[in-house]
Amino acid sequence: MAKTKYVFVTGGVTSSLGKGIISASLGRLLQARGFNVTIQKLDPYINIDPGTLNPYEHGECYVTDDGAETDLDLGHYERFLDIQTSQENNVTTGRIYQSVINKERRGDYLGKTVQVIPHITDEIKRRITLLGKKRNYDIIITEIGGTVGDIESLPYIEAVRQLRWDLGHDNAAIIHLTLVPYLSASGELKTKPTQHSVKVLLENGIQPDVLVLRTEHDINKDIRKKVALFCNVQFDAVIQSIDVSTIYEVPLLMKEENLDKTILKVLKLEPKQSLDLKPWRSFVTKLKSAKNVVEVALVGKYVELADSYKSIMESLIHAGAMNDTKVIIHCIHSETITKENVKAELQGYEAVLVAPGFGDRGIDGKILAVQYARENKVPFFGICLGLQCAVVEFARNVLGYKDAHSSEMSNITKHPVIDLMEEQKGVTEKGGTMRLGGYACELIEDSISYKAYDTKTVRERHRHRYEFNNDYLREFEERGMLAAGINPESGLVEIMEQVDHPWFVGTQFHPEYRSTVLNPHPLFVSYVKAILKNKK
Ligand code: GLN
Repeated sequence: MAKTKYVFVTGGVTSSLGKGIISASLGRLLQARGFNVTIQKLDPYINIDPGTLNPYEHGECYVTDDGAETDLDLGHYERFLDIQTSQENNVTTGRIYQSVINKERRGDYLGKTVQVIPHITDEIKRRITLLGKKRNYDIIITEIGGTVGDIESLPYIEAVRQLRWDLGHDNAAIIHLTLVPYLSASGELKTKPTQHSVKVLLENGIQPDVLVLRTEHDINKDIRKKVALFCNVQFDAVIQSIDVSTIYEVPLLMKEENLDKTILKVLKLEPKQSLDLKPWRSFVTKLKSAKNVVEVALVGKYVELADSYKSIMESLIHAGAMNDTKVIIHCIHSETITKENVKAELQGYEAVLVAPGFGDRGIDGKILAVQYARENKVPFFGICLGLQCAVVEFARNVLGYKDAHSSEMSNITKHPVIDLMEEQKGVTEKGGTMRLGGYACELIEDSISYKAYDTKTVRERHRHRYEFNNDYLREFEERGMLAAGINPESGLVEIMEQVDHPWFVGTQFHPEYRSTVLNPHPLFVSYVKAILKNKK
């Protein structure tokens, strides 16, 4: 078995430079060179996972098939590489400390003082190399969250320094991503922040092999030479990452900059095949030259931060490209929607999507948005809480149960059409206790979903505690809202659809976690297709 090689991606100067996209782009290129690649993310915060975080903190919580609640960068890894990630692909400081403390209590360190070095750093190293022990990867890319110089990142940087010696220099490459700001007053690109940031890394014992420079303007040869000279890297290893209109162009740009070749050189690897990016290129071309436009209203309560709905937005982009359509997404805050303004708020759009969420803030606006879409025959997609809102709306306005609600929002309703799942009833802990990850769903023939998937059984990812209350199913179906997908083991309703409507689908699962560039999700593809058709 060939030895697994490692690439570490660190960031300097500021956060939000796009380490996740650079890691995913590199992963894609190495994959296209014939290597078996995966990517993991180390997050320096103390939460065990982002499952308990408000989306305003770090954006969406991404869910893997094995039921891990993870950082949204894992979504980029899956979308770019078309691979499945798992619990092992996302490690937080909380998890590291938890296992060290558990070991301490068990007595594994009996007699010893437990310290950041070596105990925490050993645990970080164990986690980094765990993935490669479970499966046979040629290359594992590890993205270190945060920015070098942060107190909380220090143990990770130290672990990388040590690992590089443990693994041997040819088996570990280090990429440092920094910012080269442009001063418009003097018309200059400035490299000093990069020099300082590399200095911080050097103080911590790490010499980067490759520098990726985020920039708004082209970085010329002289500036690259200067960076190479001051930062101790080869001229070819100074790579620019210029702003582009879509993240999906980044792999193509990184190819032009030879990021993959440079990394392979550091790792002393020969490409296994010549690079074939044809399908990727054709996706980007379709994306940029789409002939049609549709405008979708995304109704949610975390809309101030676009990252809150990252996977939904990317899924719409993928599905748009498949349909030769540019999907423009307008985020609408559900708290601003009222009975009086709902029509005015939504009538400019060709479709409505009600987003996932928790708690009752903004719930009335979501229910009004569903009603608008149902009554006006506007294509509608409800995801998780979005489906639950559609069920409540139907119960109230079609079945006539005026007080119908989800028992998440009301504990006095006489008609809990959405109710706590049986297995959730004794659960009191909040972290990692929802119905999480992949479950099977059997589709009813002739449904919109069945036609979209073109198969009988699918597997989709979940993240919820509440569920359609089957006591009401017969009434719903009699009045035209059908269960189109059912979990074969538990009988839980996973998809509801309305007849007599151009496209009205609500899913209890999150299809957005499974859409990738090369395999856009069938439900999103079908949705965009229906929007286009309805528009014409
Ligand atoms: N709050 C709802 C539940 O727990 C929906 C969750 C979601 O939208 N992810 O069932």
